[in-house]
Formats: sequence, structure tokens, C-alpha cells
Amino acid sequence: MRLKSALIITGLSHHSLRASHARVKQSKKLMSTTWHVLGAGSLGTLWATRLARAGSPVRLIVRDAARLQAYQAAGGLTLVEHGEAKTYDIPGETADSSEPINRLLVACKAYDAEQAVARLAPRLGPNAELILLQNGLGSQDGVAAQVPQARCISASSTEGAFREGDWRVVFAGHGYTWLGDAGHPVAPIWLEDLSAAGIPHEWSTDILTRLWRKLALNCAINPLTVLHDCRNGGLQEHHCEVATLCVELSELLERCGQPAAAENLQQEVERVIHATSANYSSMYQDVANQRRTEISYLLGHACKVAARHQLNLPHLNQLEQRLITHLHSLGLPSD
Ligand code: NAP
Repeated sequence: MRLKSALIITGLSHHSLRASHARVKQSKKLMSTTWHVLGAGSLGTLWATRLARAGSPVRLIVRDAARLQAYQAAGGLTLVEHGEAKTYDIPGETADSSEPINRLLVACKAYDAEQAVARLAPRLGPNAELILLQNGLGSQDGVAAQVPQARCISASSTEGAFREGDWRVVFAGHGYTWLGDAGHPVAPIWLEDLSAAGIPHEWSTDILTRLWRKLALNCAINPLTVLHDCRNGGLQEHHCEVATLCVELSELLERCGQPAAAENLQQEVERVIHATSANYSSMYQDVANQRRTEISYLLGHACKVAARHQLNLPHLNQLEQRLITHLHSLGLPSD
């Protein structure tokens, strides 16, 4: 009713209103910087489809010519949300394309990020910005070293998505994404694009603390769920083992200048185990599906940093060794 009277007052028909919306969307597309999304997996699809839906220009970078052909044959990326599937025909390309890149969302696994970005380095413009979605720590520094001319922004996300098939992703868990740049506290202008796309986010001036805290939670929970072959809740029966790891992880966080990430760590680990007791951890799922894990950027990174600080953390080291042995016994890589 309100819309109808507004149309009468402004003298616009439904048709011309629709046309003017389309024009606004089109001119927004022309004015704004293209989002190049590297990696058409779970998170890459979740971001690319929401940005494209809101009218931001998006281009997808896939692995190679064969993957590009398969993507084009599929006719776009499909996002399944609340049980409803919608396909978005986002243009695809490979790293060999020539268009300059000014904004790059890096959405591959931590172990692929450095190499994948190195291939794109010659295409980056002088003010290029990279958004790094990788879990854990270590890959962000590796990527930044490949592209010293670019601004690298790290992200830590609690959103959840999984691939139902090639080019088809299910939005499984609503969450939040924190973004930040440890070397430069000013928020970038394109956060507006995320708001328009309905991607819940916050600019964080302590992103390193967030990444370390998440890494510590992961180290205290995920490897044990693999070794004890249980859901997160199963760790309630291994309370002492979890507590011992939390003591060592807190020591590590303090030593590497992250005391805020160490605060009440054990309490939060216990809260997460309880709140997610029915879930299988991401590492558990990777192992169960015979997929490579991100161990080097999680527990492996923690042990590496402890060694660098000459900090003796026997239980954490032993956990890493047990996990590596277990992965090898399944024929999975341990890096
Ligand atoms: P994923 O589903 O495995 O997707 C990774 C994608 O990267 C794949 O499509 C892969 O291509 C692509 N890729 C790898 N190397 C590439 C290259 N050189 N060029 C182009 N594409 C390349 O992974 P994900 O679950 O989205 O995870 C991405 C990161 O986000 C991880 O660090 C993960 O821990 C983190 N994360 C994920 C979630 C989640 O819910 N999924 C939540 C929070 C954080 P192919 O398809 O050809 O293999």
C-alpha cells in the first residue's frame, strides 16, 4: 500500500522503478572494484555468490583450464541456503588471464595459499588488497612475502559451509567474520560491499589475538577428536588431557606476546566442547574423508613457534607426533 502511494506521488510506474533499480545496480558495477575470488570451494562460493547477488562485480579464479571448462559447463556457482538452491553465473577465469587484480579474496586452503597467490602476483595492481580467509597461522606471512607491494588483510570466520558437489555449496552455519590488518589499523572502504552483501563482519584492531585464540582452541580440541575418534563432546571423557594442553598453550600464547588470547583458555575450550558436543571437528571430517588436513598451520605452527622461543611443551609436541603418526598410518600427508 505504502509503495503504491509512493509510486503515485513520484509518478513512477512499477516498470520504471524496476528499470531504475537495474540502472543503479549496473552503475554500481561499473564504479566499484572487482572482487577476484581465488578458489571456488566452500568459503569462496559463500562469499562470491553473496557479493554477486548484491550487485558487486565478482570474478572467480579456478585452478586451471580443465576446471574452468567444467565450471562453465555447470553454468555458475550454486548456493544452497535454507534448503533453497540458487545459481549465480559469475564469470570465471584462470591465473593466466590478463585483467589486473586490485582486490583478491584468497579462499583456498592454507597449504595452497602461498603458491596460488605467487602465480597471481604479476597481475596485482599497485594498490592491491588481499583478504586472507585461511584458518590457523603461518600462511598469512607466507602470502605477504610473495606480494610485498600489496596490503594483506587477515580474516577469522565462524561462518560454516560445505561442498555438496563441484560448484555447489551449502551454507551450513551462520556466523561472523572478523577482519584486520596487524600492520595498519585503518578499515578499508570496501567493508561497505560486505554490509550490502549481508556478510556479517567487524573490523578488528587485534586480529592476531583472534587468530591465536582460535588456533589455541583448535589445538586443544581437533587433534584429540581425531586420535580418540570421537565427536567434540567425547572429549569430556578426556578432561585431564585437555586441561594439560590448555596449560601449555596458555604458556605459549604468553611467550609470543598474546596474553589476551591466553585468558581463561581452558574455560572457553570446555565451553566449546560442551556447546558443540554433537559436532565432528573440521580436522576429524578431513581425516574421515581422506582429505589433507591443515595441521602445519594449526598444531604444527604452535609447535614450531614454541621451538623458536625455546619453550619446552612436552604434551603439545607429543600430540603433534601422535597425530603425524596417525595421518601417516592412513596414507595422509602430515604437512
Ligand atoms: P575448500 O572447500 O577445499 O575450497 C578450496 C578451494 O580452493 C577449492 O575449490 C580448490 O580448487 C581451490 N584452489 C586451491 N588451489 C587453487 C589454485 N591454485 N587456484 C585456484 N583455486 C585453487 O576449502 P574451504 O572449506 O572453503 O576452506 C578455505 C579456508 O577457509 C581454509 O583455510 C579453511 O580452514 C577456512 N575456513 C573454512 C570454513 C568452512 O566452513 N568451510 C570456515 C572457516 C574457515 P579445486 O576445487 O580445484 O580443488
